[in-house]
Amino acid sequence: MHCPVCGKSTKFYPLCEKCHDLKDAGRITRCIICGKWNDADGELCTDCYERHKDKKMTEHR
Ligand SMILES: [Zn+2]
Ligand SMILES: [Zn+2]
Repeated sequence: MHCPVCGKSTKFYPLCEKCHDLKDAGRITRCIICGKWNDADGELCTDCYERHKDKKMTEHR
């Protein structure tokens, strides 16, 4: 298995030790739309955040 955040190989956990600690500390989260791990501030990864933002902007227009 490989850590989906940094790509480091892991043995027992889906995340490597370093990223597991970051997750526990709330420094990284899983995107609620695409499931991608990210260190962005919030529930969405940067891609989904941008898309969401654009959609909201077009809806507003
Ligand atoms: Zn990692
Ligand atoms: Zn996403």
